[in-house]
Amino acid sequence: MLNFSDDVIKWQLKYGRHDLPWQVSRTPYGVWVSEIMLQQTQVSTVTRYFTCFMAAFPDVASLARGTEEEVLSLWSGLGYYSRARNLLQSARIISDVHGGFVPSEYDALMSLPGIGRTTAGAILALAYKKKYSILDGNVKRVLARVFCVDRPTNASSTMRDLWVLADKLLPNKNIDTYTQGLMDLGATVCVRGKPTCLSCPLKQRCQAQLEDAVGAYPVKSARKKVAKKSIYMIVFVRNGAALMVKNSGEGLWPGLLGFIDSDTFSDDILKRFADGFALKVKSIAHLPNFRHRLTHIDYLVHPVRVDVSLGVSKGRHAGLKWVSLHNQGQLPISVLVKKIFGLFS
Ligand code: SF4
Repeated sequence: MLNFSDDVIKWQLKYGRHDLPWQVSRTPYGVWVSEIMLQQTQVSTVTRYFTCFMAAFPDVASLARGTEEEVLSLWSGLGYYSRARNLLQSARIISDVHGGFVPSEYDALMSLPGIGRTTAGAILALAYKKKYSILDGNVKRVLARVFCVDRPTNASSTMRDLWVLADKLLPNKNIDTYTQGLMDLGATVCVRGKPTCLSCPLKQRCQAQLEDAVGAYPVKSARKKVAKKSIYMIVFVRNGAALMVKNSGEGLWPGLLGFIDSDTFSDDILKRFADGFALKVKSIAHLPNFRHRLTHIDYLVHPVRVDVSLGVSKGRHAGLKWVSLHNQGQLPISVLVKKIFGLFS
């Protein structure tokens, strides 16, 4: 009987994914960018973004020369924007410290912003064929089912044990195919909802399958509380364009362009904002509310359209942009802001 890794490798060669954009002419740089994009994001979404990103920044040197605004524009809608800022910062470090080459040593990779153990392992295994393990959500689910791990997989003690297990399972050869195979299995066969066990190469050794208990694994951790919050998005409109401001470093979407936001809304609050930007309010219209869910906050969004003209007093002008309501081009904006622009189309 083949061992665990042989089963995965054989299956990957025959049934796994081989034509993802970052697999075609695979480079350490492409693997790194794709792995950062794939953190918390599905392959189908990443595919589109990856191609545009690589066209704009084909190598470390071009990325290192890019501006934060350019990088965030290409990331716009992908979410978790700290990933984009970390990527840019890392590219500059790689240029300055590593001669422009994505490091092939674990410690050097781990010292870069935005790279944790799984991302470092994936880069080393896929790009440099080095014997390192990964433990992303898909791999955790596969291991939890095959070995009937009866504790929540996110608990730190379980994670410690899973890393030991993942290391033990590593093959001595074909580490890149094995790593890709585990990722592919978790994404296409051993999926979260209904795994297709009949077509799984591990079905003969999967304890959860043999015990007819697949639904019980992975063991769920206690649900994290999601805070509910109301937020007013004030869209100042003048000559068919909306006023946008660059979010500060402390907010939810630092560096991205957004509308003026406030926890509450009143005539006084509106006047304060309008005066601050030297605007004169002509009319106010409350647009339909909608929900926007982030990992930890469930927003009830209240968009307010405020048509304005320019006032006479001096207001704040730095970092402001008037952006067409109907064509935003390639701007660094969040999905929430895109949804609000959608209300005007
Ligand atoms: S047999 Fe089913 S549950 Fe077990 S690893 Fe394969 S797909 Fe997952």
